[in-house]
Amino acid sequence: MQTNLASWARDTNEGKDADEILRRCVHCGFCLATCPTYQILGDERDSPRGRIYLMKQVLEGVEPTQATQEHLDRCLTCRNCETTCPSGVEYGALVDIGRKLVDEKVPRPWSQRVTRTLLRHTLNSPLFGPAMKLGRLVRPVLPEILKNKIPQSRAVGVLPANGARHPRQVLMLAGCVQPAMMPTIDAATIRVLDALGIGTQVVPGAGCCGAINFHLDAQEAALEQMRINIDAWLPMLDSGQVEAIIMNASGCGAMVKEYAHHLRHDPAYVAKALRLVDKVRDIAEIVAPHVAELKTLMISTPAPVAFHPPCTLQHWQGLRGVSERMLHDLGFTLQAFAESHLCCGSAGTYSVTQPELSKNLRNRKLEAIQAASPSCIVSSNIGCITHLQSGTATPVRHWVELVDEALGSSVGNSLS
Ligand code: SF4
Ligand code: SF4
Repeated sequence: MQTNLASWARDTNEGKDADEILRRCVHCGFCLATCPTYQILGDERDSPRGRIYLMKQVLEGVEPTQATQEHLDRCLTCRNCETTCPSGVEYGALVDIGRKLVDEKVPRPWSQRVTRTLLRHTLNSPLFGPAMKLGRLVRPVLPEILKNKIPQSRAVGVLPANGARHPRQVLMLAGCVQPAMMPTIDAATIRVLDALGIGTQVVPGAGCCGAINFHLDAQEAALEQMRINIDAWLPMLDSGQVEAIIMNASGCGAMVKEYAHHLRHDPAYVAKALRLVDKVRDIAEIVAPHVAELKTLMISTPAPVAFHPPCTLQHWQGLRGVSERMLHDLGFTLQAFAESHLCCGSAGTYSVTQPELSKNLRNRKLEAIQAASPSCIVSSNIGCITHLQSGTATPVRHWVELVDEALGSSVGNSLS
């Protein structure tokens, strides 16, 4: 598509990046068929092509309005459109720029500002863990909307005491909400890797991947979190103390794999970010090459499950089919269901900022999954897991927890 950027945008880094992306779009409209918000709302301005056009207008000098902001806000950033697009339009990178420019020009109503600020500070706070513990105590008397945000607790089990003995070592992201909301996921990850002869370390000083700030109008704060994490992780990767940094929440993995993109205009960090990104792996990427060894350690056959592939795994990280193949090879029967490419409506804090759309997508997803009558739904992102669980009595777990259970939580029962 032809563009004619406004003079204020033409010579900026963001303007140049956006212009390059915009020019690739040929307006074919293929992406409309896989966009969840267009499927629900049927408004072109809530489709990828429509949003691209709105952002082009802003970059060409048309003043954005609250309606422009709302159409961009309704986007889940699921990137299903990127998977569908035949022209390689990097919609995700474009909407990051578009949202920032629109938010600079259109002040949000105070209620939205308060919600977004509270979300950023609460989810990034060290008090989130104690608050979650308190929430569990009073969960039975909480209103449904709050109850849904607090997963029921499960026993974490015993962790291997001597993971440091393994010659292979990896780093694990400390994360922000996952350890408090569902500590069983990290515990299961540590045990499964231990069974494979891989020790897991968490580096002090690193924290949230930056996704929460980045998607709630605080991109500069997110960039600072990325720099802090790089400084904490990179010395261990560069020195060979650890071979990789593993992600068991695909939302965080997607963000960390894009650190070099986000820091592309920071000469002090772009090279460091590139070295880091090269070593980031989803947990399935680490486990998949060792399926045969792992299978020899499993003491039970897992029950049939439905696997929900998060958008951040299939559309952001391009790992379509990797977890599915690994689970199949481990002996899981995966129950197929319709529309597995569509977002479940979780999308970070979307369930709070766009509750109706989010619930609509969740129910649509659960309806599709439940047609297969699984006894358990598995996924690989804490956001999707808690969001889906809020709408069903069928257990929703991380697949690594089921693998851990099939190993009999076999601490010490490892290959090395
Ligand atoms: S599929 Fe790609 S090229 Fe076609 S309209 Fe959508 S973004 Fe543009
Ligand atoms: S990222 Fe998802 S919701 Fe947003 S335009 Fe693309 S397909 Fe639609």
